[in-house]
Amino acid sequence: MRLLILGGTTEASALARRIAGRHDLDPILSLAGRTRSPTPPPIPFRIGGFGGIPGLKTYLIEGRIAAVVDATHPFAAQMSQNAAIACRDLAIPLAILTRPAWRQQGGDCWFGVTDMKAAVLALGETPRRVFLTVGTLQLAAFAAAPHHHYLVRTIEHPHGMAALPSHRLILARGPFGVEDEIALMQEERIEVLVTKNSGGAATEAKIAAARTLGVEVVMVERPATEDTRSFYTVDAVLAWIGDHRPAP
Ligand code: NAP
Repeated sequence: MRLLILGGTTEASALARRIAGRHDLDPILSLAGRTRSPTPPPIPFRIGGFGGIPGLKTYLIEGRIAAVVDATHPFAAQMSQNAAIACRDLAIPLAILTRPAWRQQGGDCWFGVTDMKAAVLALGETPRRVFLTVGTLQLAAFAAAPHHHYLVRTIEHPHGMAALPSHRLILARGPFGVEDEIALMQEERIEVLVTKNSGGAATEAKIAAARTLGVEVVMVERPATEDTRSFYTVDAVLAWIGDHRPAP
């Protein structure tokens, strides 16, 4: 069974590890190529965009792909939409492997916004000490609010940091612990945390730390996705793959 996994996440890596060596599956993992030196996956892989919906359709047809698992990040909306349209048009089964969104709990002080531009506006006019954990791609949006001080945490060195006049950059990869997050926010006198609602345990500690310290959270909510089957565990996706195995 030719299986295309759209990856770039811990969920996709976990699925790849589980199916590596299975003789009934012929998988290929697709990475966008954003990470400079990704760890080579344990299954065959390709790197780079497909060329929009037409390119993806050509790839699916020429590769005789029998099913697609979209295990991209919840904020990789373009790739997910392209996959939904291409699979619908070609009648190829598509499942989403994702993580549940974080939900507000008692004691949280969240300000929900729909995009990064709105997150910048939500910080307001009064200068504040802001913890930015939004990845690298949309940091430039905060150049529009240079009166704040930013503590920026990313995995890889981002471009465009010069646009933020007052900042400190930390390079680190999760998982993070709640006590460490509390200590960091206290040391840096953080007043507001900006994050995308990525969900998942690896980076949830900052949410708990903000709750403990009474720090406000500007939460960029997830983009809407097509109405496709979503699963939250690798086991559930494996069962789905089994159900969609082509007849011999
Ligand atoms: P995006 O905006 O949805 O996608 C932009 C374009 O990048 C897509 O149209 C596609 O190009 C290409 N692309 C994206 N994912 C791909 C994949 N797995 N394989 C091949 N091409 C892919 O995506 P993004 O937000 O830039 O994210 C890029 C990658 O980083 C994804 O794999 C995602 O899982 C991972 N990631 C994203 C975030 C985030 O916050 N956005 C966080 C962690 C990891 P074509 O149109 O040419 O096919």
